[in-house]
Amino acid sequence: MKIVLATSNKGKVREIKAMCTDFEVVAFSEIIEPFDIIEDAPTFKGNALLKAKAVYDALDDEEAIVLSDDSGISVDALDGAPGIYSARYGGENASDKDNLHKVMDEVKAKGLESSPAHYTAAIAIVTKEGEQVVHGWMYGDVITTPRGENGFGYDPCFIPEGFDKTLGELDDEVKKGLSHRSKALYLAKLVLGTIKKGREL
Ligand code: IMP
Repeated sequence: MKIVLATSNKGKVREIKAMCTDFEVVAFSEIIEPFDIIEDAPTFKGNALLKAKAVYDALDDEEAIVLSDDSGISVDALDGAPGIYSARYGGENASDKDNLHKVMDEVKAKGLESSPAHYTAAIAIVTKEGEQVVHGWMYGDVITTPRGENGFGYDPCFIPEGFDKTLGELDDEVKKGLSHRSKALYLAKLVLGTIKKGREL
């Protein structure tokens, strides 16, 4: 069964492919001309649905199975920011590094060296059978000095609960075992399995 990912974020594509080895997973940009999707919903769930529906419509294939991930980090000391604005926290054309440094600088500006934080992932699945959204979360702390090169985005400043290293320092396999994305994908795979069974009847 082929799953089309409604994202061009290389970090997400790499992680989702590594976690969905039972399925053939392709990014939408591998099969159609990539296009921008305006993510203007007020929630992770709303934005995940926007992306999956936009790609499902663009594919023009009733049988398509489209999966999207809308995710981000919420920092307690910043009243939950950047949250749904994680991808563009440092401005419209900000890089992952710009966003990472803005979060660390803002925590530092509060006179803190760290703050509790959590990642959220909303995964939407859009098919002819309907629309489903599942969520996953990962809790920990953000620190104000980046450490490590693994993962992507905010990972160099995030220490998961129960660890003393950032996701930038921890092995990809460790992140795979505890991340917001892997928890949401676990539920998404139950939905995909049901769709698969339904189509085989
Ligand atoms: P989205 O593509 O609009 O969902 O933006 C998600 C943004 O949140 C990404 O650009 C990353 O900056 C951040 N993000 C989401 N998940 C992760 C993760 O697993 N590690 C690090 N950053 C993440």
